Amino acid sequence: MTLVAVSKTHPDNKIKEVYDLGQRIFGENRVQELIEKQPQLPADIRWHLIGHLQRNKVKYIIEFIDTIESVDSAKLLSEIEKQAEKINRKIKVLLQVKIAEEDSKYGLTVSEAAAIFSDWKNGAFPHVEITGLMGMATFTDDDGQLRQEFGKLKKLYDDLNTDGRLSTLSMGMSGDFKTAIDCGSTSVRIGSAIFGSR
Ligand SMILES: *Cc1c(COP(=O)(O)O)cnc(C)c1O
Repeated sequence: MTLVAVSKTHPDNKIKEVYDLGQRIFGENRVQELIEKQPQLPADIRWHLIGHLQRNKVKYIIEFIDTIESVDSAKLLSEIEKQAEKINRKIKVLLQVKIAEEDSKYGLTVSEAAAIFSDWKNGAFPHVEITGLMGMATFTDDDGQLRQEFGKLKKLYDDLNTDGRLSTLSMGMSGDFKTAIDCGSTSVRIGSAIFGSR
């Protein structure tokens, strides 16, 4: 199980406290905040971008980002490929799939994600390593609904992972991580349960 400590809105000294306890993977959702924090904090932190990424901002994080969890379009993936090629890095990404019933703005449909994954397996985006999928469930206490939404992502993950190249199914936040783990999550993104409320 991987723990991504979601440090958005929390100051560097708080992040350092959690780092000193041994945590090395941190998640941020805004590029501006991430590029301010990253140089101030230990270089061995593995930063994950978990929020919507505008294409024109890829270049600001490409040098140091560990994983971009929020790839929500083929155009964004093309831009990541272009910037990664320039500096000869291979960037780990997750495809973000829309699973929530509520009207969330960002995320691929199941068929879009499957199409991108197939293109990648056929050689597109050689400077990108698609390591898995990410999804956010509806903000609800209804465990049945959470299971349905997480289950949809888990099924897609299994359908795509026939040759075992994927390692990461990122689902679950402070309020729903237990259910997400039950449904097959391998990586949880926890903010408020670690850092307190924002
Ligand atoms: C903020 C955020 C989280 C963490 O949320 P908490 O409820 O504070 O644990 C997880 N994933 C994404 C994409 C987020 O934006």
